[in-house]
Amino acid sequence: MMQIKSFEFNLFGEKTYVIYDTDSREAAVVDPGMMNERENDELSSWILANELSVKYLINTHLHIDHVFGDEYVEDKYGVGLSASIDDEFLGDRIAQQAMMFHLNVNVADAVKISNPLVDGEVLFLGTQPIQIIAVPGHSPGSIALYCPTGGFVVTGDALFQGSIGRTDLPGGDHSTLLRSIKSKLFVLPDETTVFPGHGPATRICIEKASNPFF
Ligand SMILES: [Zn+2]
Repeated sequence: MMQIKSFEFNLFGEKTYVIYDTDSREAAVVDPGMMNERENDELSSWILANELSVKYLINTHLHIDHVFGDEYVEDKYGVGLSASIDDEFLGDRIAQQAMMFHLNVNVADAVKISNPLVDGEVLFLGTQPIQIIAVPGHSPGSIALYCPTGGFVVTGDALFQGSIGRTDLPGGDHSTLLRSIKSKLFVLPDETTVFPGHGPATRICIEKASNPFF
């Protein structure tokens, strides 16, 4: 069975998720935002306690608040980064992103993609699928992770409860984002639970009915 665990890390209140299959115990760490040892321990001790084997490290996009913990997860679990190549330019500019947000933090200058993900691609945890859905707009390479057997989708910073991602950062585009959400997310089953990159979970039917951007 496909399940998901959420954590909230770093000064941006970023949501880190672990998607896992309860049969094979295989897991994907999504957007690890840990910024310090305490946050690293919170994630890794939960993974250890649940006897999970980390198979994937996935970023929904390569903004700095979603990648603080990438290096830790790569080293700890021996996995490379899976993300869209369309956000590679952001991964190359982690140091500049830190400066832009006036962050004086110890962060890798760049994050490198080992496994480029494309729209429509399917990854598996055991026999359970994770469908990659391109949702450009917040950033060019933003992706959502749809788990049909779990009935949930991880939307990164594309769609939030009652809101959508900002589009004023490099490569962002407002009309592209609206189109992505309408044509790629609002077509998912109504009862699908949405786990966004910030803030509380919601459902597709709730956002279709009441998100003020639509
Ligand atoms: Zn973002």
